[in-house]
Amino acid sequence: MRFVSSRGGVAPTGFDEALAAGLAPDGGLYVPESIPGIDLTTPRATLAQTAEAVLAPYLVQSALAGRLSDLCTDAFGFDAPLRAMRGSGDWLLELFHGPTAAFKDYAARFLAGALAALRPAGAPLSTILVATSGDTGAAVAAAFHRRPGFRVVILYPEGRVSPRQAHGLECWGDNVETYRVAARFDDCQRLVKQALSDGALRSRVTLGSANSISLGRLLPQAAYYAHAGAHHHAATGRLLNVIVPTGNLGNACAAVLARRMGAPLGALHLACNANDTLPRFLAGADYAPMATRTTLANAMDVGAPSNIERLRHWFDGDDAALRGAVRATAVDDVRIRAAIAASPVRHGVVPCPHTAVGLEVLADLRAAGDTRDWAVVATAHPAKFETIVEPLVGHGVEAPVALAACLARPAIARTLRADADALRALLLGAT
Ligand SMILES: *Cc1c(COP(=O)(O)O)cnc(C)c1O
Repeated sequence: MRFVSSRGGVAPTGFDEALAAGLAPDGGLYVPESIPGIDLTTPRATLAQTAEAVLAPYLVQSALAGRLSDLCTDAFGFDAPLRAMRGSGDWLLELFHGPTAAFKDYAARFLAGALAALRPAGAPLSTILVATSGDTGAAVAAAFHRRPGFRVVILYPEGRVSPRQAHGLECWGDNVETYRVAARFDDCQRLVKQALSDGALRSRVTLGSANSISLGRLLPQAAYYAHAGAHHHAATGRLLNVIVPTGNLGNACAAVLARRMGAPLGALHLACNANDTLPRFLAGADYAPMATRTTLANAMDVGAPSNIERLRHWFDGDDAALRGAVRATAVDDVRIRAAIAASPVRHGVVPCPHTAVGLEVLADLRAAGDTRDWAVVATAHPAKFETIVEPLVGHGVEAPVALAACLARPAIARTLRADADALRALLLGAT
């Protein structure tokens, strides 16, 4: 299996090279040359086994092929249960049982394990550069923390993450440096993209990416959709339809991938916050990225979702076909609050603000008479967003064990100017 750029401007390359590069040299995103169809209807016993089956076709020629099983055991060692909620045909796909209590833990751990396994002995220090709107940074930090040969540099938009998220970003130390930037997430992401496409800089520093633009983040995410879909289909004979709280479109692209590979999944509905670039586009408007709006579901505050390039590529630039295959709805903060407050009674769950966006979309579908089986993807644990969630549900939300451990460590605050030169100097600086 080889990988090409979504912009079509580079020669096909292997998985290992694409993984090391992050962004394709023409500024596009790496995508598999073709999407393999495999048997994903027969359920496998564990999530790690499903992950191995899903990833194997992409890694046949990779140096990692022989270690895929170990990589999957490590990255998918915590559960992703599909839980029945109160309400007929309403399911919750819980992806928050990892070390930082958000879905990004799975793929971040896979990526870290893969990059570590590919590292030649004696290779120079590799710097993993990450822009985060909240959860990516923590997942990447946890995944790379104390791995020899790696330096992790995280940029996050100051004041736009919850206090617990900020703590989860700043509590690592050792080989992890976290910087607050007085800017929006899109600005942080632009700084990272600039650095990654700066040839002069890259000749002096070994840079890698761990954002959702990385193939090593994208592909593993298909595993939990395939796993949930197969088990649901085996138990009920029906397809599982999914509602994915969406920001940069990485997680949702993985659902598209799982469905294309043959997982028994039905409809895919993107649940967006007030950043409605995707709902507008999928409803028929021209694609028009916009400035980011700050919302309660901050990990989805993205006005220019970078993975749109992958999605359009998979539909051969045929936007009509894309609009037929993927729907999207925008939910504003007023409705997010209402959904959090209503969910304990309506569904028997306390959702994080991102998951609440998905639950609100489910409510819309039910109100319109939709009777299919829908799983809302629970992208993070509500305890990460306690300042929003607790007042709305009227009681405390306990942090899961791993998150509590992280919160018990001291935070180290550093700041960075929102400026390419400042980032360059930092990356060139010795540590
Ligand atoms: C990252 C994140 C999202 C958005 O996922 P994308 O892959 O960027 O679309 C949604 N919810 C939470 C909690 C997240 O951390």
